[in-house]
Amino acid sequence: MVKNHCLAKSINDASWSLFRRWLEYFAAKFNSQVVAVNPRMTSQKCSDCGAIVNKSLSTRSHKCSCGCELQRDVNAAKNILNLAKARVGHTQSNATGLVTSTLLGANLVEQVTRVNVESPSL
Ligand SMILES: [Zn+2]
Repeated sequence: MVKNHCLAKSINDASWSLFRRWLEYFAAKFNSQVVAVNPRMTSQKCSDCGAIVNKSLSTRSHKCSCGCELQRDVNAAKNILNLAKARVGHTQSNATGLVTSTLLGANLVEQVTRVNVESPSL
């Protein structure tokens, strides 16, 4: 179904939404926290010094001039973890004043619940 370009985006969106809800569920169940971060440049940025080390998708290792050498995905994972640590506890408000935290968990579940309650009246 994903190969059908008319439906692919909707199917992928639904899958990511479901995946995100599973993450929230299991994080709550195991008393952990899920934090959404922007993945942009996480595989190109050096997790040790912050320099941008451009590499193609086929380049599987990260080698920086600072001496940091890691497997590409490990480097990206460290960058993602650092972004998440920096974001923990930071929330933003949108134009309506509702909290649109990048943190997943109770706030987002509450928002989704609120959307579901409000949708019939729209
Ligand atoms: Zn570096």
